[in-house]
Amino acid sequence: MKHKEYGKWLQEVFGQKVQKLSIDAGFSCPNRDGRVGTGGCTFCSNECFVPAYCRRGLSVGEQIEEGKLFFRHKYKRPLKFLAYFQSYSNTYAGLPRLEALYEEALAADDIVGIIIGTRPDCIDAQLLDFLENLSRRTFLCLEFGVESLNDETLRRVNRGHNAEASLQAIRATADRGILVGAHIILGFPWESRDELMQQADLLATMPLKTLKLHQLQVLKGTELARQYEEVPWPMPSPEQYIRLALDYIDRLPDSVVVDRLVSQCPPRMVLAPRWGLKNHDFSCLEKMGI
Ligand code: SF4
Repeated sequence: MKHKEYGKWLQEVFGQKVQKLSIDAGFSCPNRDGRVGTGGCTFCSNECFVPAYCRRGLSVGEQIEEGKLFFRHKYKRPLKFLAYFQSYSNTYAGLPRLEALYEEALAADDIVGIIIGTRPDCIDAQLLDFLENLSRRTFLCLEFGVESLNDETLRRVNRGHNAEASLQAIRATADRGILVGAHIILGFPWESRDELMQQADLLATMPLKTLKLHQLQVLKGTELARQYEEVPWPMPSPEQYIRLALDYIDRLPDSVVVDRLVSQCPPRMVLAPRWGLKNHDFSCLEKMGI
């Protein structure tokens, strides 16, 4: 893979190993509370992506301390950390509350920056003013859930915004000198390979710093699961998926840092695809260029 891996990039930026700590700061999402929509995106199950140490009932500071203990025990070496505001839409609140939460994270020992995951329609000029200032004094990356650049896909998954909203948000954020990341899902059954390669070409024109690719996972309890159970569709094998993901990122500039190519929810939550592979197995496939 010609692109830099996320961990290596962080090592270069900070001169040592830096670990992301997920935080659930109690945000909601405008696609669930009725401001944009209700019911959320058809694939969404936030519980799948929340690690055990990250508990909504705890303060940001408490979650950070639990996360640090977890990773220090796991790696048994000195670590610095990035606070990753991950669950739901982490800019979906008034500025005073956002400022308090981000500052609480940055005040914790050994926190060297923050990553904020959000929707493209949850930013405005005032927020970007604030984040621009913050990014001058600390590492800050704003990650947008783009998911697809196909408007028909976004409509079918009840995303509540179109592709243009994502492109505008990425441009507006990068224009402030803020690092921008994107999440993309590969594998919607109605998106052909050619269609995805066109999306990659469009994404390649964007000022992106980081990219996360996920295979489409049908998670139990979601609207997507209901649709899948009604009319199942063929799922790619791990090899087919990795090939697709590598072809997708191959079309992006070398400057894009690849955070991940796959995501793995706990198997008990996944209806399909049930690949039964560990992260290590995927690393092997990636290294083999498969
Ligand atoms: S995927 Fe994100 S935007 Fe969609 S419903 Fe879930 S939290 Fe909201």
